[in-house]
Amino acid sequence: MEGPAQGPAYDVLVVGSANADLTVRVERRPGAGETVLGTDLVESAGGKGANQAAAAARLGGRTALLARVGGDAFGELLLDAQRAAGTDTTPVIVDETARTGTAMIIVSPDGDNSIVVSPGANAALTPADVAAAKDVIAASAVVSLQLEIPMESVRAAAAAAEESGTRVVLNPSPAPEAALAPELLSAADPLVVNEHEARQLSGLTDGTPGEWAQALREKGARSVVVTLGGEGALVLDGSGVSEVPGVRVKAVDTTGAGDAFTGALAIRLARGDALPEAARFAVRVGAAAVTKPGAQPSYPTLDELNALSG
Ligand code: ATP
Repeated sequence: MEGPAQGPAYDVLVVGSANADLTVRVERRPGAGETVLGTDLVESAGGKGANQAAAAARLGGRTALLARVGGDAFGELLLDAQRAAGTDTTPVIVDETARTGTAMIIVSPDGDNSIVVSPGANAALTPADVAAAKDVIAASAVVSLQLEIPMESVRAAAAAAEESGTRVVLNPSPAPEAALAPELLSAADPLVVNEHEARQLSGLTDGTPGEWAQALREKGARSVVVTLGGEGALVLDGSGVSEVPGVRVKAVDTTGAGDAFTGALAIRLARGDALPEAARFAVRVGAAAVTKPGAQPSYPTLDELNALSG
């Protein structure tokens, strides 16, 4: 008699950061020693890991998050946001000895941001935490990694994924040069970078997205996706280059668009799409995300996505 279907328990496990974003708008940024008045404080859920998990979960992917938050009100806010998106938060560690990571964001009238990040509990996510989640990693089709937690923990997650045959999606923000470590780069399938990161990591001061992607593949990445803002994305894998055109939308706020893209890409790869096909879906999700303010609150469900792009 046939047993129950065997397959990964999760489409995507995100191993990464969770931050409370604390945003104030100001008429002008304060200089050294100066105090200015701002608008009311807006608290929202952020952090690249948490954003990517929320994006994947809202699209209906079976998603789990391995992160650390503090045992404080911000930690609760972040957990609530993940649960509302549909993420399984069982692997999240509530660290009573640390504060939840925070990003203090000052937005000036021209839309420019000044941001101070206090990593808090994110800095305490250790390789031992990753080792304890070995079975969850093995039970996931894709592990999605960024660089807002200690590098040794990112490396441990990539190694555990490799050992269990779990695919790694690596988005090396906010410190892209760290992704050049050979053991990390060789795990990336794909490496997901924006234009600026692609140029910087490829070492090519000029050139085209295709040339940057090729250089990154030569440095060791298994496949590469370069996101191009409103212009879409460029994909390079074993079958060559694919250009994915952007989706024309009225952009309201691009915050967290890259994370929406990466979470969406991870889900479709987990479901068996080829990379160019997954990128086409992710470009639509990124475009949907820029039509609304904020990061996580702007991420679409499948129904919302279909309503937007038909
Ligand atoms: P961010 O740092 O703002 O989160 P990023 O720099 O990591 O973003 P981008 O290349 O700017 O990444 O954007 C990621 C994806 O979001 C793009 O591939 C595209 O799908 C979508 N996107 C971003 N900006 C626009 C826009 N103006 N119009 C349509 N889609 C957009």
